[in-house]
Amino acid sequence: MDSSIQLNNVSFTYPNGMEALKSINLSLPKGKKIALIGGNGAGKSTLMLLLNGILKPTSGFLNYEGTNYTYNKKGLKLLRSKIGLLFPESDNQLIAPTVYEEISFGLLNLYKDVGLVRTKTEAIISEFFLHEFANKPPYQLSSGQKKRVCLAAVLAMEPEVLVCDEPVSNLDPKYAQLIFNYLDKLNEKGKTILVSTHDVNRAYTWADYVVVMHNGEILNTGKPESVFKNKESLKKANLNQPFIVDFLNEFGSNFQDSAIIMSKWKKYYNW
Ligand code: ADP
Repeated sequence: MDSSIQLNNVSFTYPNGMEALKSINLSLPKGKKIALIGGNGAGKSTLMLLLNGILKPTSGFLNYEGTNYTYNKKGLKLLRSKIGLLFPESDNQLIAPTVYEEISFGLLNLYKDVGLVRTKTEAIISEFFLHEFANKPPYQLSSGQKKRVCLAAVLAMEPEVLVCDEPVSNLDPKYAQLIFNYLDKLNEKGKTILVSTHDVNRAYTWADYVVVMHNGEILNTGKPESVFKNKESLKKANLNQPFIVDFLNEFGSNFQDSAIIMSKWKKYYNW
């Protein structure tokens, strides 16, 4: 399995002494849909900030497709053009006075050619159906619209890896599904997508690969079928088994074909 980002003995301690990540070794498979799951305080957000180079490990190192991260201006610029980060709170990501400027902001850091920035900004505004509020200040938008703008701004940079910290936590089920459908389309184009979530049902039905975190450590990694079989590591991480796994464990022997129930559940969950 080709890897995209690799973490080698990565530890991170906040200035107040809180050791948020403890000697993590992790390889994120390239081109996959990866769910990072764990309870509150497990270290998911910290890990994601390290992936995008916003935080630098206290010890250990990261590499992207075989090249070690470097934290000078040039290295970070290159890194952030390859690895995009969607913040959990849109309000922390949206800084420009209008939606249009929000989308062009990152592009202006990347390209000197203003005409090219304009073309790319307009293309992404079209792709995300943002015309009607392109000139509005982001604070006037709904949570779902803000998330769409954030995603558009990150994707305008055409990253190869998209890291999404709790992308649907404030969204209603329909909007949440729209975001996940969009992530699926990006993955079909070959992008590696990493999503953090507490939602084991979503992780089970959506992901190709799952990483379980607890207390700054990786407890388990692998395909959803094997990770979610392991009740012990889920319990340790303060997580439940996905409903359908638990249900079929209890009652599966009463049904002739559990696989049919499972596939109906997946369809129901991913409209
Ligand atoms: P998660 O995203 O899984 O909820 P976090 O990465 O946010 O976990 O937090 C991991 C640990 O680091 C927690 O104990 C949290 O309190 C601590 N932490 C997070 N951010 C900071 C910070 N800015 N300063 C100090 N400690 C922090």
